[in-house]
Amino acid sequence: MSNDRAYNFSAGPSMLPLDVIERVAADLPNYKGCGESVMEMSHRSKEFTKIIEDAEADLRTLLSIPDNYKVMFLQGGATLQFAMIPMNLMTGSKKADYIVSGSWAKKAAKEAAKFGDVKIVASSEEDTFTYIPKPDKSEFRPDADYVHITFNNTIYGTHYNDYLPDTGDVPIVADMSSCILSEEVDVTKFGLIYAGAQKNVGPAGVTIVIAREDLLGKAPENIPTYMDYKIHADNGSTYNTPPCFAIYVAGEVFKSILAGGGIKPLHEADVRKAQKLYDYIDSSQLYTCPVAKEDRSLMNVVFVTGDTDLDKKFVAAAKEENMHNLNGHRSIGGMRASIYNAMPEEGVDTLIEFMKKFEAENK
Ligand SMILES: *Cc1c(COP(=O)(O)O)cnc(C)c1O
Repeated sequence: MSNDRAYNFSAGPSMLPLDVIERVAADLPNYKGCGESVMEMSHRSKEFTKIIEDAEADLRTLLSIPDNYKVMFLQGGATLQFAMIPMNLMTGSKKADYIVSGSWAKKAAKEAAKFGDVKIVASSEEDTFTYIPKPDKSEFRPDADYVHITFNNTIYGTHYNDYLPDTGDVPIVADMSSCILSEEVDVTKFGLIYAGAQKNVGPAGVTIVIAREDLLGKAPENIPTYMDYKIHADNGSTYNTPPCFAIYVAGEVFKSILAGGGIKPLHEADVRKAQKLYDYIDSSQLYTCPVAKEDRSLMNVVFVTGDTDLDKKFVAAAKEENMHNLNGHRSIGGMRASIYNAMPEEGVDTLIEFMKKFEAENK
């Protein structure tokens, strides 16, 4: 069965490491001999308590998360975070500054505007989000409650590589849904990091929030209980029933990354995979990558042939060769190869070979 698996280039949900899937499958009916499946287990049981505590501890190790940051496993996806962030953090001056580098950033800003005064400090929308806008310090409001950025733009294939806004004391909030665990990040540069799991961590259903402790506990009393970060932080993410199975699988992914030596070797492989794909695209006569070189993402590689019918033919022909979901986002078309941590290097090599063959046949 495992041998029949396709290379799935989906932007999310996306591939998981095969060793994790096989381990989860083996433990599915009777988790470590406890007589129950994790799918059936009480979230207050001794077994699940260990699962969630290990998941948090391993994530802390992987990202070197300092003690003054809380880790939460929540539901509602990154989309709910678009609202939870302003509900919890836009509570001082009720101002927040957003850099709009893609559709997710735009959605986050739109949601926040329901709760206070949102300033779009910079946007690359006029250039179809092909680069990361890089405003300087003077453009941010010094009294804003936070500055929001989207660290990796899944749809457009851009990423904050060398630039991070200088916001002074204003905390940076970052959506890392599609790049978390692909690189070492200095958590202390951020007030809050969030990521839906289904891109680079685990199955859909759990969202990771890493928040500096002093930013919590400032939500107004009339917000729904679930929306208050402090409730989750104070209750170890088990105030109510958490997405147990998704947390368990994410925890197995963390274990697998740790066993492989942590994020560093994974990042090196991610760089190698992305570099060879970009190098080939840049050298080819048929394909082009519209993204500014310095802002290119390691996770989502966007390219086009310049002919929408040929793009469609490419995606369909690739599917025949067991390479799935190479279509670009429905809003922009073209192609996108999402090559997250779990995409094996052979998957990228196979894709490049296919692209060469397709180029030769469609000159
Ligand atoms: C996928 C994605 C989202 C939306 O995530 P949901 O879990 O579907 O709400 C938000 N931001 C980024 C950067 C994404 O890649």
